[in-house]
Amino acid sequence: MNVYDSNRIFDIAKDIGYEKSNNQDNADCFIINTCHIRDKAKEKVFHEIGRIKEIYSNKKKPLMVIAGCVAQAENQEILKREPYVDVVIGPQSYHKLNKILNNFQKNQKEDFTEFDTVAKFDLLKKIKNSDSTVSSFLTIQEGCDKFCHFCVVPYTRGPEYSRPFKTIIKEAEDLIKNGAKEITLLGQNVNAYSYKENNTELRISNLLNELGKFTELSRIRYTTSHPLDMTDDLIECYSSNKKLMPFIHLPIQSGSNKVLKLMNRKHTRDYYFEIIEKVRKVKPDIALSSDFIIGFPGETDKDFEDTIDLIERVKYMNSYSFKYSPRPGTPAADREEIDEVILDERLKITQDLLNQQQIEYNNQFVKKTVQVLIDGAGKHTGQIKGKSQFNQSVALQGDKEIIGQIIPVQIKEVLTHSLLGEKI
Ligand code: SAH
Ligand code: SF4
Repeated sequence: MNVYDSNRIFDIAKDIGYEKSNNQDNADCFIINTCHIRDKAKEKVFHEIGRIKEIYSNKKKPLMVIAGCVAQAENQEILKREPYVDVVIGPQSYHKLNKILNNFQKNQKEDFTEFDTVAKFDLLKKIKNSDSTVSSFLTIQEGCDKFCHFCVVPYTRGPEYSRPFKTIIKEAEDLIKNGAKEITLLGQNVNAYSYKENNTELRISNLLNELGKFTELSRIRYTTSHPLDMTDDLIECYSSNKKLMPFIHLPIQSGSNKVLKLMNRKHTRDYYFEIIEKVRKVKPDIALSSDFIIGFPGETDKDFEDTIDLIERVKYMNSYSFKYSPRPGTPAADREEIDEVILDERLKITQDLLNQQQIEYNNQFVKKTVQVLIDGAGKHTGQIKGKSQFNQSVALQGDKEIIGQIIPVQIKEVLTHSLLGEKI
């Protein structure tokens, strides 16, 4: 979502003559878009400011704007901790950016962190999305009302808000005109999307089906979904909507019912298994991924074993796992933390298992053919890369002219996080 937001911030500032610069040594303004989900992400922001400060130590200071969730959560604290920062602007205040840039006076400190979600999306509706990548993002929903006990999102992105159906379709049209062949719908709880039009509730399934009608659009994805919002109409799309890719990122965080309860996730592991069973019934080859938080306060050896057991039972194509990071202001922040050594051990066991599952999953594809949407140049000369329908990263030798096309690729070799193939 930060990639999407950064592009929109650029589209807004473009309106008053700002341009993206590749030259970091000679900019009038820096806007750093930030993430607050874990402490590590937050600390990166201050390193980045330090780096920029050094570049400009003997030059005119650029206007320094901190945008995003760190700005939202820390607002005045940032201005105090780092006097080099001029403006903090939260994720629901981007529509004020041009006013801020135009009216900024030297030595002024500005804090724009109120939740103004409706006004923000009203402005974005009027601004064309200039993103011109083969695979594009499109935010349909923001914020969260679920309040998991470890998570800052409800406090930084604010309450759940779903954008109007027609505005989303219009923005998709812009993206397709700009060359998008794949659109990924975004939201903190993307499948909680709910918009009322003429007394009818429109859900993400309606959006997927409407987008399916664009002939120039080949692929649709969405992320991140919450198990509680995996409704039957959405699951049904995996059978009826040929453009919806057979991959779901469905985070569970922990395999222990006790920890799920402590986290306030509002469902059990059995409920999660039921959802997966339903999806696999409709789409047997669906690829699955998840997020796991390791070492949430109160997680015992037995709870951790339940997480490992769940991973072994589900079999993921890949997943993300994180050490629990206490976030100020969340209900779990004051709970007693797990010993760091145990935490590291558990994280390693989890990551080893997830990596092994990823390799096993990918090994099934050797000598088989996948359909790859080519989205850019690869790391090595003469290489191009893209994503399979199952969201695997695939690299191959090929001409950059076929960027934007979907081509059959035979898999030759499995690397840890990607595949090597050959065009057939
Ligand atoms: N809405 C999604 C997740 C959004 S946050 C869901 O409910 O599943 C993205 C991921 O960051 C989460 O899935 C979680 O694994 C991780 N995360 C969030 N808060 C965290 C914390 N305090 N410590 C460690 N990881 C965290
Ligand atoms: Fe955070 Fe997701 Fe829980 Fe919302 S549902 S509080 S975004 S982890």
